[in-house]
Amino acid sequence: MADYAFFNKQFVPLSEAKMGIMTHALHYGTACFDGIRGNWNEEEKQMYLFRVRDHHQRLKKNSYMMKIDLPYSVDELCRITVELVEKNGYHEDIYIRPLAYKSSQAIGVRIHNLDDDFLMFVTPFGPYLDIEKGCRCCVSTWRRIDDNVIPPRAKVTGLYVNSAMAKTEAWENGFDEAIILNQDGHVSEGSGENVFIVSDGKLLTPPSSDNILVGITRDTVIKLAKNELGIDTVERSVDRTELYLADECFLTGTAAHLTPVIEIDHRKIGDGTVGEITKKLQQLYFDVIRGKNSKYIDWCTPAYSSKAIA
Ligand code: PMP
Repeated sequence: MADYAFFNKQFVPLSEAKMGIMTHALHYGTACFDGIRGNWNEEEKQMYLFRVRDHHQRLKKNSYMMKIDLPYSVDELCRITVELVEKNGYHEDIYIRPLAYKSSQAIGVRIHNLDDDFLMFVTPFGPYLDIEKGCRCCVSTWRRIDDNVIPPRAKVTGLYVNSAMAKTEAWENGFDEAIILNQDGHVSEGSGENVFIVSDGKLLTPPSSDNILVGITRDTVIKLAKNELGIDTVERSVDRTELYLADECFLTGTAAHLTPVIEIDHRKIGDGTVGEITKKLQQLYFDVIRGKNSKYIDWCTPAYSSKAIA
C-alpha cells in the first residue's frame, strides 16, 4: 500500500512529497499545524475523524494570525482530509497532520512578503502516553512562553521548541511527561496536552489566559463531564501545589487522548492509581471518538466511501 500526502495542491505518494532546503518555515518556525485523529471502528470497518471541522477552523484562524494565506476554506480542508484518509486506507488508529507554512525559498526573518502553502499527511498512531496505567510527570524547569512572546494558542511550529525542551528534560529525568508553569508560576499545560485536576468532585483546569493551547479534547472533556456526569469544570489559574494535593489528575490532547496522571514530582496523586472520575471520563471519551455514542456522532466524520461527507 502506497502512502499518500497532500502536497503542492495535489495528492502525491508520500515518498515524492519533498521540499527545498531553503524553505522559510524550516529555518524560522513560520508554520501553523494541527493534529487530527482518525479512530478506527473495527465493528463498522469505519474510520471516524474526530472534530475534523473544529481542527481546521482552528488552523484557519491561526494561519490568519501568522499572515499565512491558507489557500483552502474549512469545507475544502475537510474534503481534502477525507479524501487523503480514504486514499491511505488504514485499518487502525491514525494521526493526520495538516501544516500551513511559509513556503518561499528565502532568507530573512519576517512573516510578510512570502509565499504560503499547505500540506497534509497521515500516519498510523497508537496511544502517545500510557492511557491504562497512567503517566508520571514532573513540573518542568522550563517556563511556558507568554502570549506576547510567541502566542501558544497559535500552534506555531517554532513555539514547540519550548515543549521539546520540557519533554526531553522530563524524559531524561525518568518521567513520562512535563507539566509547564507559565511566567506567573501557575500551571499552564503539558508539552502537548492540557491539564485537569479533580478536587472535591469538581474539575479544575487552567484558563485560556494562562498561555495554553485551548484544546479541542479539553473542550470535549468539559462537555462530557457536564452533560454525562453532571460535573462542572472550573477554569481558573491553578497553583503548582494544587497538583500535588489533587484527588485525581489527567492530561488531554488529540495525541494523548485522556491520559491519567498517577504521580507528579515523586508525589502520588490520590492513591497513585487511575481515579474514578478519570476512568468514567475515559470510557465516555473513547466511545465518543470511535463513533459509538450516537448522541455525539456529529463530532465524528466517517472517512470511508459510502458514509463519507459530500
Ligand atoms: N497543548 C499543547 C501544547 C498541544 O500541543 C496540544 C495538542 N494539540 C494540546 C494542548 C491539546 O490540544 P487538542 O486537544 O486540540 O489536541
